Amino acid sequence: MQKYSLFSLIRNSFTRHRNWPRAWKSVDLKQSYDVIIIGAGGHGLATAYYLAKNYGITNTAVLERGWLGGGNVARNTVTIRSNYLRPESIPFFVKSVEMYEGLSQELNFNLMHSRRSMIDVIHTYPKLREITRKMYNMDIFGATYKPISVAEIRRRIPTLTGGGANSRLPIIAGMVHPEAAVNRHDAVAWGYARAASALGVEVHQHTKVNRLLKNPDGTIKGVSTTKGDVSAGKVAVAVSGHTTQVTDTVDLNLPLRSFNLSAFVSEPVKPMIDVIVNCADLGFYLSQTAKGELVIGGVPDPGQSFRRGSNQLIFERTVGAMLELFPSFKKLKLLRQWGGTLDTAPDSSPIISETEIPGLFITAGWWGGYKAIPAGGLTFANLIATNTPHHLAKSFTLDRFKTLDYILESGTTARV
Ligand SMILES: Cc1cc2nc3c(=O)[nH]c(=O)nc-3n(C[C@H](O)[C@H](O)[C@H](O)COP(=O)(O)OP(=O)(O)OC[C@H]3O[C@@H](n4cnc5c(N)ncnc54)[C@H](O)[C@@H]3O)c2cc1C
Repeated sequence: MQKYSLFSLIRNSFTRHRNWPRAWKSVDLKQSYDVIIIGAGGHGLATAYYLAKNYGITNTAVLERGWLGGGNVARNTVTIRSNYLRPESIPFFVKSVEMYEGLSQELNFNLMHSRRSMIDVIHTYPKLREITRKMYNMDIFGATYKPISVAEIRRRIPTLTGGGANSRLPIIAGMVHPEAAVNRHDAVAWGYARAASALGVEVHQHTKVNRLLKNPDGTIKGVSTTKGDVSAGKVAVAVSGHTTQVTDTVDLNLPLRSFNLSAFVSEPVKPMIDVIVNCADLGFYLSQTAKGELVIGGVPDPGQSFRRGSNQLIFERTVGAMLELFPSFKKLKLLRQWGGTLDTAPDSSPIISETEIPGLFITAGWWGGYKAIPAGGLTFANLIATNTPHHLAKSFTLDRFKTLDYILESGTTARV
């Protein structure tokens, strides 16, 4: 793999940057692999990378129906955090946030990772109670939630001038999560793809999996794609909101429903907010990018769908909620709005599991799964390579739906 450094940048400037090697190889699709991963998003690419790096499994093809990084990995609002409620979830997300902090060095790819802190702005006593429970649980696992006063919220976020005593919902408390961060999302996809490709993994863009194929004995045989049938000993589905569209082709019923989540971004303005602001009671969150744009997200569309656009009603509600706390943002121009398709399990926790079809694995339920890409890839690769759940993800298998051992998590940045 070409080492990216100041030296290589200077050296390539002499040839006007025309001689950089390709970041990942492009080869013909073979008829057979040890492992096929469906979906070149963050989870699929990270899984391919850790399979190669940690287990030496390199005869792997990642099949992507669109282009690399065209899915949710580059459609999300890059909030990285580990403020979860349950003892099954917190260590997993703590690990993922820690892994992100060292990932630019590991992948030799600048992810522009930036620790920001998240400030939860709280308006209701039920939310305060829920967040206080999180605080005590997180403390056990080394993640931090610290209460702050309303005056301290206003000191740290001077543009937050709404939510006063005479407002519809006055702010009653706040909580800071210092480990929360943001980074550059498409760089995560490119960084993992480049590192996996250097280890021998093949990434095939514009190769849609139309259906899964089974052997007569019921085990997985491979996939049927737009470029022909491909066989594999193991097939891993990492298609984010589209899991059921793939697994329905072998009549595998999963406890998942898909819905649309949207976000929007303002024109760039001078630096004014250096934290992630989250307001679950009103239903919006925002942060400011390194370029100065405000990235704003709201609640998911409640109806089930595979849509990728953005819902006008949700958009208007989110803007209305934001203006309650930040009235001066009324003058901001919005540049873009977009959406993505996510799937979620009934308990809002992920599924990292082998299925009832031997050799078929799924990673799904990632309604807030950008933060989980490093640990998701690490633990899914472990499961595929060893057929045993990783200790950090042992509670996330499909078995919990048989025994009703739900890991009930409510949304933090949005009301799910
Ligand atoms: C608006 C929005 C905001 C979000 N904000 C956050 C946030 O702040 N923090 C957070 O942690 N998470 C957030 N998320 C969620 C996060 O983006 C996803 O949970 C995560 O990216 C999903 O994993 P992925 O990267 O592997 O998905 P994707 O990038 O979607 O990868 C799946 C890939 O599978 C491909 N695919 C689908 N079907 C097939 C097929 N049949 N054959 C071949 N390929 C196929 C798709 O084209 C896609 O590229 C947000 C999501 C959205 C939409």
